[in-house]
Amino acid sequence: MNVLKVVLFLLLSACALPAGAESRPLRGRVAIDIGHSPAKGGAISARGTSEYLFNRAVALALERELEKMQLRPVGILDLDREVPLRDRVAAAELRRADILVFIHHDSAQEQFLKPWSYAGQNLRYCDRFSGFSLFVSGKIPRAGESLSLAGAIGDRLLQAGFHPTLHHAQDVPGERRTLLDPARGIYRYDQLAILKSKTMVTVLVECGVIVSPDEEAMLEQPEVQQKIARAIASGILTFLGGR
Ligand SMILES: [Zn+2]
Repeated sequence: MNVLKVVLFLLLSACALPAGAESRPLRGRVAIDIGHSPAKGGAISARGTSEYLFNRAVALALERELEKMQLRPVGILDLDREVPLRDRVAAAELRRADILVFIHHDSAQEQFLKPWSYAGQNLRYCDRFSGFSLFVSGKIPRAGESLSLAGAIGDRLLQAGFHPTLHHAQDVPGERRTLLDPARGIYRYDQLAILKSKTMVTVLVECGVIVSPDEEAMLEQPEVQQKIARAIASGILTFLGGR
């Protein structure tokens, strides 16, 4: 191995090591991921709207709120493009983000969805669950900070008048998530690939349940989307020690 190869090997080894990431100071560079994509839109709401459109609206509002608070959004990851899930963490890391927030809207398990007809379409709804939830991984270098960020976002969502849903902890197939903080709707979900970053603080926000007809009607209002975005941005600011 010549000197150049040794230097290259050492550099690559250093990049691959997550150790010490949790102690690296955060610069507040926030990347926002819009859950799903235009072609693969995620859940379908009670009235037939793709989850992606709800996610997109809150993500755009979040970017504006972060800018207002003098935080440093590094952009929305590949807006309106088809980005495979496996590439999303890498895309945020490439932009040197140190916080990555995923914006999603929630559904319910198959057995809770009932058929109904809306505006001539055959759709499904569920009126048993409503509220936000927050997901973190317990197996990443910045797990502790991710939980702190989720807590700060949860506090702000509660202060803004929203409530958590606890249905992901139900003892039914597809759920059984570990509920870390019932008051703030925080769950641990180590298997979720998109939360697995070696360098970033990551939190997934389910803003509300769009298969609930009542909650969908609330969540589609631009002022509610802005309120959610402001609560998430305020949580990020609090987490970073802003106020
Ligand atoms: Zn989703």
